[in-house]
Amino acid sequence: MDKPKALLVAGISTELKSLLAEVVELVPLNKQGDTTRYLSEQGAAFELVITSAGKGCANELMEQLPNLKVIFNWGVGYDKVDVEFATSRNVQVTNTPNVLNECVADMAIGMLIAQARCIGEAERFVRRGEWLINPTPPMGQKVTGKRLGIVGLGRIGLEAAKRAAAFSMQIKYCNRNPRDDVDYPYESSILELAKWSDYLLLLCPSTPETHQIIDRDVLKALGPKSSLINIARGAVVDQKALVDLLLSGELGGAALDVFEKEPEVPKAIMDLPNVLLLPHVGSATFETRTAMAQLVVDNVRAYIESGSLVTPVN
Ligand code: NAP
Repeated sequence: MDKPKALLVAGISTELKSLLAEVVELVPLNKQGDTTRYLSEQGAAFELVITSAGKGCANELMEQLPNLKVIFNWGVGYDKVDVEFATSRNVQVTNTPNVLNECVADMAIGMLIAQARCIGEAERFVRRGEWLINPTPPMGQKVTGKRLGIVGLGRIGLEAAKRAAAFSMQIKYCNRNPRDDVDYPYESSILELAKWSDYLLLLCPSTPETHQIIDRDVLKALGPKSSLINIARGAVVDQKALVDLLLSGELGGAALDVFEKEPEVPKAIMDLPNVLLLPHVGSATFETRTAMAQLVVDNVRAYIESGSLVTPVN
């Protein structure tokens, strides 16, 4: 039997491509020349779209695929897919939850410690040869016992909290609703959580409701002795306010894996020693990316074989 066609609209790993090739005929959109013309001639041939969390699937693209049935998203965050719009067109969306919880949580705590202890700056101090002439390397802040506020105590947030507890950190969290399966104290106000926190860790999704939920007031409440750790999405933070307050010293520091317009990083904070900058690598381990790839393929296979999905979003 012929394999069904799947339109590939994002850059994905070679591993995911070869796993997918076992179940579908993968058609990369960027290799089809004039894409508008290609879609107007061939768009009706595709029921399946494969994409990444970073790329998503624009509404205009969905409109050019009249027979689209499923968008398979390689990543847990699906903020680049308008799920309401997809649902209105009877298009299902899948993502890759859970398999990345541990590695993203590891990275969140790694970022927190790296920022607090100036690991990046100390490493650059050695590489620059500065140690040879300056006996005083950068000095950091103690992590053990400090106060960690988590905005978004979900699947990954919970794993991050477990790790922070091993550092005897005091933990509070803010969700829209308190969880009934944890003992960590709940704080309904992000502003109050920020006032209390030495470190404010973001692990909520990017949604219209969370857009710049970390605004200037929240960042000011966090204050000059505390730091923001963002491994959620750039859109959750007012990036202009973040840059302003880091430059003025009204915010103590930041560790950032995600930005408003990736891969652009604000030039003004590039040289700040109290800021750790990463290129969106929260889930980037061989093991986790393989597990995410496998979950995409499991979803594709399940859909082809039974019309159902392993991890549906809508
Ligand atoms: P999840 O299990 O759905 O958890 C999200 C949490 O955010 C939930 O506890 C939810 O609780 C809370 N939340 C939602 N809206 C909120 C709001 N308005 N205010 C406060 N809390 C809110 O998701 P997850 O799997 O842990 O992933 C979380 C996010 O991490 C993803 O959406 C993605 O953007 C990001 N991520 C980034 C990377 C990276 O590489 N940097 C990798 C993976 C994931 P309530 O429903 O009670 O509000």
